[in-house]
Amino acid sequence: MLNIVLFGPPGAGKGTQAKILADRYHLYHLSTGDVLRSEMSAGTPLGKKARGYVEKGELVPDEDVTEMLVCVMDKHPDAGGFIFDGFPRTTQQAKFLRKMLLEKGTEIHDLIVLDVEEKELVRRLLNRAKLESRADDTREVIENRIRVYKEQTAPVIDYYSQFGKYHPINGIGTVEEVHNRIAAVISQQ
Ligand code: ADP
Repeated sequence: MLNIVLFGPPGAGKGTQAKILADRYHLYHLSTGDVLRSEMSAGTPLGKKARGYVEKGELVPDEDVTEMLVCVMDKHPDAGGFIFDGFPRTTQQAKFLRKMLLEKGTEIHDLIVLDVEEKELVRRLLNRAKLESRADDTREVIENRIRVYKEQTAPVIDYYSQFGKYHPINGIGTVEEVHNRIAAVISQQ
């Protein structure tokens, strides 16, 4: 099994790169943001609860997200591995993931962090807002998501650093250039 966490601030390009990696390495692309959006549009109890957090750019509580994650993973027992996009977003979630994967006899192999400066993130997200209508792509909510990333999510990097799994990648460049940088890290496995 190959399990990769694709990490970085909102707008860094995680979703775009995760899709390409999932195809190339035959991994299941697990985006917690996508799962939450489909729960919200289906109006499930989880979706109704999550909406208040997502629309403000706050994190959905750990216990809800971890329960949802287990549920999705259980539906794909034959996956050759997972590419986690948007999870873990807190150190608590990272610890949970480690324990869960250990029980399955596997682990996270790499934490790949897409580095993109803040001005570029805001520019990309405002641009995306013109193409897609995501309720959390307004300037105010974008700024909150970046703040939440810095305060609650970035510490996850320290957690993986202690295991020597942290790989920073320059997230600026064409989709293909960034993909090649990520593939170079994965090929060292
Ligand atoms: P982005 O990386 O652009 O912020 P995502 O689609 O990954 O977008 O996430 C959108 C929103 O979904 C987040 O702002 C948050 O409210 C919620 N969310 C997604 N993943 C998690 C998670 N692992 N823990 C808590 N909340 C999450």
